Order: sequence, then C-alpha cells, then structure tokens
Amino acid sequence: MSTIPSITLNNGTTIPQLGYGVWQVPDDEAASAVRTAIEAGYRSIDTAAIYENEVGTGRAIAAAGVPREELYITTKLWNSGTLDWSGQQGQDAVLRAFDESLAKLGLDYVDLYLIHWPRPMHGTFPNVWKAFEKLYQDGRVKSVGVSNFGTEQLDTLLRESSVVPVLNQVELHPHFPQAELREYHAAHGIATEAWSPLGQGKELLAEPTLVKIAEKQGRTVAQVMLRWHLQSGVIAIPKSVTPSRIRENLDVAGFELDAEDLAAIATLETGKRLGPDPQGFDWN
Ligand code: NAD
Repeated sequence: MSTIPSITLNNGTTIPQLGYGVWQVPDDEAASAVRTAIEAGYRSIDTAAIYENEVGTGRAIAAAGVPREELYITTKLWNSGTLDWSGQQGQDAVLRAFDESLAKLGLDYVDLYLIHWPRPMHGTFPNVWKAFEKLYQDGRVKSVGVSNFGTEQLDTLLRESSVVPVLNQVELHPHFPQAELREYHAAHGIATEAWSPLGQGKELLAEPTLVKIAEKQGRTVAQVMLRWHLQSGVIAIPKSVTPSRIRENLDVAGFELDAEDLAAIATLETGKRLGPDPQGFDWN
C-alpha cells in the first residue's frame, strides 16, 4: 500500500495528496493506464468530461477490484460556450452533464465534481454553482470544487453561497507556484490542487537546480517536484502513461527536501504559465 498522506477538506472528507491525472490519455488507453495506476497504489483519479476518457477510466475502476469507497474519483463539468449556463436551463444542463459523466464512469457517485473553467466574462459560474450545491445536497457527489478560479470568482462564491468549494485545481509547478492564490485558499479553508505539477514534463525536468537536488537526494527530478508539492501542502495529480513513471511518481515518501532545497526551488519562479490565463480565457 502507498504511504501517500491525505488532506482533510473543509467538509470533513479526505483526499489523497497524490493522485493520477488522465488528461490527453485516449479513452482506449485509459483503461490500462488507470488500471496500472491503481495497481501501483494510486487511489485518486482525476478525469474530466472534456478528456473524453471517462468510459476507459470507469472500466479500470470496475476491473481494479478495489472497493469503491477506497477510491477517490474526480471529474469536471465542461461548461463550454456552446450552451447557455444561465437560469434554470443552465442548472438543468449541469445536472444532465453530471448524469452523463456518471453513466460513462459507470458509477453512482463521484467523490469530487469541479467546474472546469470560470469563464468570468459570461458571469454564469454562480448559477452553475447553484446546481453543484444541489448535487452536493442530494448526496450525488461527496464534495464540490472549482478549477482555474481566481480570487475574484472565489469571493463571489463565498459571498453568494453557503457551500465553500473544497478545493481549487489550478496550474502550479516550480515555475508558477501561485503563492498569493495559495494564501487566499488557506485563509478561506480551500485546499490547493496542482495541475501540470511536473510542468507537463517540459523544461523543468532538465532544470539544473532541480537536477542538483535530485542528485543530492538520490531521487529523480519528477520525484523532487512531487515531494515539493507534498511538503507545500498542495495536492498533486501527475500524469504519465509509462508504467515505470506511474510507479516512480507515487514513490515520493521516505525522503524530505531540506530548507536549502526549498529555498533553491523558490528561486525558480518565472511567472510563466504553460496553460492559458483563466481570467481572460473562454472555451467554446
Ligand atoms: P504533468 O505536469 O503531470 O506532466 C505530465 C507529463 O510529464 C507526461 O505526459 C510525461 O511526458 C511527463 N512525465 C510524467 N512523469 C514523468 C516522470 N516520472 N519522468 C519524466 N517525465 C514524466 O502535466 P499534465 O498532464 O498537464 O497535468 C496533470 C493532470 O492535471 C492532467 O492529467 C489532468 O488530470 C490535470 N489537468 C487539469 C487541468 C484543468 O484545467 N483543470 C489542466 C491541465 C491538466
């Protein structure tokens, strides 16, 4: 069994601090990739309607032979521009999308349902959140949260709703550590979950400072980055389809970054995102 710590969320539920993300894993590969991850010891899986691999993910969950209550399954609402998310019709669209995700996954509940993007220029996310509240209150989802939200959108939800998102899933890695947003989260009981926690396996894997720390620790750069997330109190959901890397990314207990390592990683901030800035970003 893995020795991955859990984080207690603001509604008393717990989430493993390390999960397995499946963005860009084709549906027909998802079944074997997620199965490998579960066999390796991952208990938390992060998918989304737009990843179009909920069916494969669900197959792996069914085949894994792990009791459902030991797994933590996250999926996300694709609140795209092709539908009107305002008013009652918007809320009905959320409930329909949720039903579709559940059917594809072959589950009767998910542990966490997220609004994928705020699309703040449309102003419909508070209405979408009302439908999320209903799903939560009806017990069809154990927790509700958001993704790619900024402090302004979070302020709106905190003002207008009694259900506080359990977490905000945002881009976060040593080049883009999101210190201010994390402070805001901490002040409001919202956990921080990192997407692209390895910087999408790009330059950061060859970053000399990280390579040096990895050599000193006798670990890989990916493991150093994931350890940094864990020690920062952040939930991370790295993705890989390579079985050895899937296992490597889970094997991050048993070593500790020291103050010198953490100070060196803190110098790596560039302020550059890999993904779009959610504040101006509109999906269609
Ligand atoms: P990531 O930072 O997890 O990097 C993944 C890539 O890194 C892999 O494709 C592989 O090339 C490489 N890699 C992985 N493990 C490695 C290892 N041990 N050694 C060397 N290279 C390795 O990037 P990601 O997939 O963008 O993010 C992770 C997850 O976050 C996604 O799968 C998805 O679930 C979620 N996500 C969410 C959003 C959102 O808008 N909410 C956006 C992007 C990603």
